[in-house]
Amino acid sequence: MSYTHIFAGNPFDRGDHARRDEDLLKKMVRQENTKLLPFHKLNPLIRRRTHAELAWIGYEFLDSLPEEAGGPKFLGFDSDQNPHFAVDISAVEDPSYIAALAAGAEFEDGRSAATDIPGEQSGILAQARSNLNWHAQHRFCSACGAESQSQRGGLMRECPRCKSQHFPRTDPVVIMLVYKGDRCVMGKTMARQNSTFYSCLAGFMDQGESIEEGVRREVMEESGIAVGRVAYHSSQPWPFPSSLMIGCHAEAISDVITTDPGEMADVRWFTRDEVKLALENKLEGVSVPGPIAIAHHLIKTWAYNTADM
Ligand SMILES: [Zn+2]
Repeated sequence: MSYTHIFAGNPFDRGDHARRDEDLLKKMVRQENTKLLPFHKLNPLIRRRTHAELAWIGYEFLDSLPEEAGGPKFLGFDSDQNPHFAVDISAVEDPSYIAALAAGAEFEDGRSAATDIPGEQSGILAQARSNLNWHAQHRFCSACGAESQSQRGGLMRECPRCKSQHFPRTDPVVIMLVYKGDRCVMGKTMARQNSTFYSCLAGFMDQGESIEEGVRREVMEESGIAVGRVAYHSSQPWPFPSSLMIGCHAEAISDVITTDPGEMADVRWFTRDEVKLALENKLEGVSVPGPIAIAHHLIKTWAYNTADM
């Protein structure tokens, strides 16, 4: 079975050929059929009528933006070849006049909007939000400090002084349900210590590490459990700001849990029956992630044995 999680499923053709043509890109920004999605402080413009959707607007407002606003970043073409762009309008103090260009639209938190808009639009939201955030955080060349310039519609920045090329980051995170027989491991982070929220163990991959090695290291650090077999399940872009969640099932080869109190508030074994109850929100004192998160699907797949592990 293949999974398309929230924040995946982006239908755009990212137009690699078009984005290497700077003149064409400039022209495409101002076409009648061009659609732009503005973000204010990384919050996308969302319209809610009968249903919620990304609120695309025409290019005319670009002339009203202050000098320091970032230029439009090319997202790609829809199936009718309409070019789509995202634009960071954070430099505009009061963006309500831009929101008003799409009747009834408002700038909303991307994470809560993502569960309300159609799945494929959440993929576009992920692409746009991660890219705009990267540009906002990487204006200057990390080699020489000069201000760099966006190229290829936002898929690269180039330094005019030292000619270094810089590419948008995607940060890989391993997230894994650790199991042994009829029990699995879930943990509560320090940040959630006063909540009932338990989830899969997870952590950023190190450099020079395979996915399997990252899984084994993180599980050992967070729980003291040794992991043998690691099986890939699915992955999920997570644009806060630019992670790629790599979901796995990890078979434990030891039982004893020892936690690092600085990192995890609690880590424990749960039986399959307990996990099923937790998924239905019926396990006293324990809540688990909802379907927006890949963790939910890793837990559910194991609890109901719905995929070959
Ligand atoms: Zn430079």
